[in-house]
Amino acid sequence: MIEFQQVGKSFDGQAVVEDFSLAIAPGEFVVLIGRSGSGKSTTLKMVNRLVEHDRGRILFAGQEIRSFKPEDLRRRMGYAIQSTGLFPHWTVERNIACVPELLKWPTARIRDRVTELLELLQLPPDLYRGRYPHQLSGGQQQRVGVARALAADPDVLLMDEPFGALDPITREALQQEMARIHRLSGKTIVLVTHDLDEALRLGTRIVLLDHGRIVQAGTPRQLLAEPASDFVRDFIGRGDIGLRLLALDTVTSRMRPGGVVSSAVPSLRDTDSLRDALSALVAAGASPLPVVDAAGEVCGEIHLSDVVRNVA
Ligand code: ADP
Ligand code: MG
Repeated sequence: MIEFQQVGKSFDGQAVVEDFSLAIAPGEFVVLIGRSGSGKSTTLKMVNRLVEHDRGRILFAGQEIRSFKPEDLRRRMGYAIQSTGLFPHWTVERNIACVPELLKWPTARIRDRVTELLELLQLPPDLYRGRYPHQLSGGQQQRVGVARALAADPDVLLMDEPFGALDPITREALQQEMARIHRLSGKTIVLVTHDLDEALRLGTRIVLLDHGRIVQAGTPRQLLAEPASDFVRDFIGRGDIGLRLLALDTVTSRMRPGGVVSSAVPSLRDTDSLRDALSALVAAGASPLPVVDAAGEVCGEIHLSDVVRNVA
């Protein structure tokens, strides 16, 4: 879908991205992560030509991106950023409708699409379509920014710290939203963040950058279980590697099935992570703990010894 071949970019003679090669397949959710100034935003902006690369090649659908008109490229790639970039004097509806209007969709189709997107992002359409950005909370503005990026049903979604300025609860809600949108739509998503937990939660592949170079690219599990260097180990936090690995799997992966009679001890949901399970086991000072399913029925039990065995 998108392929970087030895791409480089300099500003004022200073290399900001160097020898960057990466092939992104359709439907992947790639997360670019790294410290501030490591070249994440520049890499993302080279894809929709907000920044022009000066070395190597970037292919989109098999063709060098320079062969596309920038407008065509941007219509096929939604772009959402931390500051949302919403037009303050336009309603939510008009902000979302921006690209469909450029594409001259019929009015009724645009209206239906806005309704659909507001519903998808859990903003009741009747309440929100007529509001202005300043009448929305930060989290709602970010949702509208994501809705606008999705409006013309682009093949690719580029997101630059789209949840950056949010409180942890809203942030997690939007992350779940993105995971759901990715699952349902199968879109190719490239997201920039400096938040490791966000990267581990969302990415099918994580690309860790340092000084404009790829330090390691792999699945969340690969990064945690096989860090390529001390830099990677430090970045993911040596002391937290085990807990972060536990966060990748759910209780069901280590549960002993069976209908144990429920007791007064706190129970875990089958969708909780093994990290949640460890925390609950320690807090309860007891093992095993019962596990309940969506209906609240006990479906098994989780033992401390099963949680701590062979994490990697
Ligand atoms: P990140 O998104 O990882 O924080 P950026 O890609 O924004 O990093 O920036 C990487 C480096 O390039 C930084 O040192 C930044 O100052 C520099 N840079 C980014 N954009 C420009 C620009 N338009 N002109 C000059 N330098 C820039
Ligand atoms: Mg940035």
